[in-house]
Amino acid sequence: MPALVDPAKCTACEECVSVCPTECIAMVEGKALVNPDDCTECEACVDACPETAIRMV
Ligand code: SF4
Ligand code: SF4
Repeated sequence: MPALVDPAKCTACEECVSVCPTECIAMVEGKALVNPDDCTECEACVDACPETAIRMV
């Protein structure tokens, strides 16, 4: 199950982009967006997000 960003909570700090080992998080229109095809479910982004905007689904 890949990571999913709640855009309503995302403040575009880009911490998740920095920590993702597969570089599968991009900023799209000011919000983080995970490409689920490249997500290895490491949960690094979940731990890094200061807004708790990311969860595994
Ligand atoms: S769970 Fe890991 S691989 Fe998936 S988006 Fe988050 S940091 Fe990247
Ligand atoms: S770490 Fe959280 S708040 Fe920051 S860009 Fe990623 S999803 Fe948005």
